[in-house]
Amino acid sequence: MEAISRADEYEHSTPSVMYIVNNIPGPGIDLDDFESEYSLGCSCIEKCSDSCLCIRGPPNYIDHLLFDEKLEGPVVECNPNCACRETCGNRVVQRGPIDGLIVSEISGKGLGLVTTKFIRKGQFVCEYAGEVIGIDEARRRVEANKDSTNYVLVVSEHVGDRTIVTCIDPKYFGNIGRYCNHSCEPNANLVPVRVETVVPRLCLFASKDIAIGDEITFNYAGGVPNSVHEFSRTPCLCGSNHCLGYLPHNSI
Ligand SMILES: [Zn+2]
Ligand SMILES: [Zn+2]
Ligand SMILES: [Zn+2]
Repeated sequence: MEAISRADEYEHSTPSVMYIVNNIPGPGIDLDDFESEYSLGCSCIEKCSDSCLCIRGPPNYIDHLLFDEKLEGPVVECNPNCACRETCGNRVVQRGPIDGLIVSEISGKGLGLVTTKFIRKGQFVCEYAGEVIGIDEARRRVEANKDSTNYVLVVSEHVGDRTIVTCIDPKYFGNIGRYCNHSCEPNANLVPVRVETVVPRLCLFASKDIAIGDEITFNYAGGVPNSVHEFSRTPCLCGSNHCLGYLPHNSI
């Protein structure tokens, strides 16, 4: 069962990359795990409120904008098993990316993701979709791409005393999100959002207002403040006054 999706009409200009709208399973992933449903859904009538089993507490979104406190995630959206309507306010990323994103040459940096429309703080931009791969495969690919562009993103969620690790590689299969560069002073956050499956969608939300013509960036090491990061040997080109010099290295 697929959630309703707004059309994602972006495409890649390079034939070596296949455009995918949502994550696909890759090596090291059990298909049953990949497809397993996250929840049985809520039984709210029409609209979901504080007592909703999907939202569990304060709302994730207000007028489709992500609530400040949820910028670190995780977020659970209503899914096809829910009794609420498709217009329920707890359905945002499942409606697809915003319009007006372009892939553009950023001086001295290579390609980057730029917006031709104003983006409000808290607004959903797009997903960072790709092949979902196992941790061993992620290690292998990071090692193999040591001297070229590494797209593998490893996100750790700490839930109680458990750590859930999700590895996404959009190098060969990806969406528009794969062009989003790292910055030490980013304007977007990567938030794990679960819709129908246990595997989260890694979703970019604006962490501040973004002006027309600005590049959209996020911190590859995650938005967690004061955490100890390791650094790779790849120089960071973000140009921020607070640049830490090198791209973060996700220890996996
Ligand atoms: Zn509900
Ligand atoms: Zn709902
Ligand atoms: Zn629901």
